[in-house]
Amino acid sequence: MHELQIAQNIITIVNDELLKSENKNNVDTVYFIAGRMRAIIPETLQFSFDVQKKSHKQLKNSKLSIKEINIAIKCKDCEHQQTISEPVFHCNKCLSTNIEIINGNELYVDSIELNE
Ligand SMILES: [Zn+2]
Repeated sequence: MHELQIAQNIITIVNDELLKSENKNNVDTVYFIAGRMRAIIPETLQFSFDVQKKSHKQLKNSKLSIKEINIAIKCKDCEHQQTISEPVFHCNKCLSTNIEIINGNELYVDSIELNE
């Protein structure tokens, strides 16, 4: 997915939340979780967010905090679990390629911090 689109989605989600809770406070920080499987470039997402937030009153001065989640895989043959930094999908114990991804597909707004 494209970072510009993701930034747009984040802003929509935050605005929806503010509307739902009828909160008039400004947003301080938006905490976003991105699994490394999603291949998001944090700097690009940050930039897209900073450009788009300017036209939203409650988001204008907010920060985007991006937490990246490592990719974790589990071998279906020997049950071995490992965290990988490169998208090389095989078990490092038995070399099987019969694996399942158990972490790294995350992509969501975790929480929103508001100014008092
Ligand atoms: Zn294995």
